[in-house]
Amino acid sequence: MYDTNYLIHRLSHGAATTPAKVFATRPDQPDITYAQLFSGAQALAQRLIALGLEPGDRVAVQVAKTLEAVQLYLGTVMAGGIFLPLNTAYTAAEVDYFLTDATPRLLVCDPSRMDELTPLAKDATVLTLDSAGQGSLTADLPEADTAFIPVPRGGDDLAAILYTSGTTGRSKGAMLSHRNLASNSEMLVDLWRFTADDVLIHALPIFHTHGLFVATNVALLSGASTVFLSGFDADEILNAMPQATALMGVPTFYTRLLQHDRLTPKHAANMRLFISGSAPLLVDTHEQWQARTSHRILERYGMTETNMSTSNPYEGERRAGTVGFPLPGVELRIMKDGAEVPQGDIGIIEVRGDNVFQGYWQMPEKTAEELRPDGWFITGDLAQQDSDGYVTIVGRAKDLIITGGFNVYPKEVESLIDDLPGVQESAVIGVPHPDFGEAVVAIVVPSRPDLTAEEVAAACAHNLAKFKQPKEILLIDALPRNTMGKVQKKALRETNATLFA
Ligand code: AMP
Repeated sequence: MYDTNYLIHRLSHGAATTPAKVFATRPDQPDITYAQLFSGAQALAQRLIALGLEPGDRVAVQVAKTLEAVQLYLGTVMAGGIFLPLNTAYTAAEVDYFLTDATPRLLVCDPSRMDELTPLAKDATVLTLDSAGQGSLTADLPEADTAFIPVPRGGDDLAAILYTSGTTGRSKGAMLSHRNLASNSEMLVDLWRFTADDVLIHALPIFHTHGLFVATNVALLSGASTVFLSGFDADEILNAMPQATALMGVPTFYTRLLQHDRLTPKHAANMRLFISGSAPLLVDTHEQWQARTSHRILERYGMTETNMSTSNPYEGERRAGTVGFPLPGVELRIMKDGAEVPQGDIGIIEVRGDNVFQGYWQMPEKTAEELRPDGWFITGDLAQQDSDGYVTIVGRAKDLIITGGFNVYPKEVESLIDDLPGVQESAVIGVPHPDFGEAVVAIVVPSRPDLTAEEVAAACAHNLAKFKQPKEILLIDALPRNTMGKVQKKALRETNATLFA
């Protein structure tokens, strides 16, 4: 019944074949079946259409993570619309930018933000949805009309726009087509062996590609069940683990879970797969996880614009510190100065395939800068590939430090510092310097209270060429991170901008 709509047709496979199967269990709330998930989504699609949504219209959504929000995603796509989720942390000023840029037909927000956001909504109709799934969006929602047919959409039509985190300049809206999303999740289901027998712990936010597309779409496509958590909660994840089979997380999930005594091989015995991505997983975390659970984390790499691009193997060696191989159907090359680098050298990753987005919303120049006419997308991630084909990310190109004319890859210095006893983790940044242009600065989080900057400096002096050695080593309690666990190097650079002034 859903075959008019490219993405919904694929995502509704579980609902069509096993409608009574549970899609989500939630702590302290009733389970919801596939049939309930889709009939609710359909009812929302009808409401959106009744509110005037036309094919191709954007639905901007800044709400807490609920199953109703998942239904809104599916309902928007069923109604032929473009789902535009926004990080719940965005301020009114930030939301204003997205609304001005994307001109959505509808804005769905938390009721507590209605007064603040309504004046910014311009022509958009404003609806509410709270953390209990209540609000004007769902109020008095009639049962879905069984005769409803999703609005016809093909593989090339847009299903979603996700704004990038905008670490340089303004945030850009990555346009993702039905085919981009469907093809990537289908491949991941195969590669990671997801089936209807799986129970996925879903604790990631659903305003980001990882939780929305990787976790949700993979679960839907495979007909799996989820333990649907409104956010990261170590106790709830540990409670779920004995009945679950898979977890998708960012590295901070794993470092935080490692702090709990309940994490043992016995406790994790029913699990078959732990996946990590969105930020680099420290080798140390990988090793500790294996020691504590007998499982090797499977690390993968992707970005908003490309969906997933590489993954460590399901069978075969999951090599710590690497993001594995290009996915089937994804071409990957490592480029420098317009040519592929010799094997083992560092360059910028470019990828091509059905996974790659359609360009940036209303930014043809930015799109042309990053997406080549022949389909290669310039990711901006620096990496090298070893002789076995494993890809290792060594940082973002824009984080590369050029000091006195020499290139310093922050990852090289960070890896050395991270391996020192007494160091939990570090971030290495470039800071303006009157002589060198930029100076290498290391921000270090100690795991031992008496660690000194001198000890770190001595280790660097012993192991690194002079130009790579930090000119300043600062000890701090914790690195600034965003909700996806990414270290905010921009914030660190700003805080330390005048260090050498
Ligand atoms: P986002 O668009 O928010 O998903 O961010 C994508 C960026 O996250 C990539 O361009 C990488 O810089 C980084 N990233 C994602 N996965 C990994 C990983 N496994 N290791 C290192 N960096 C990663």
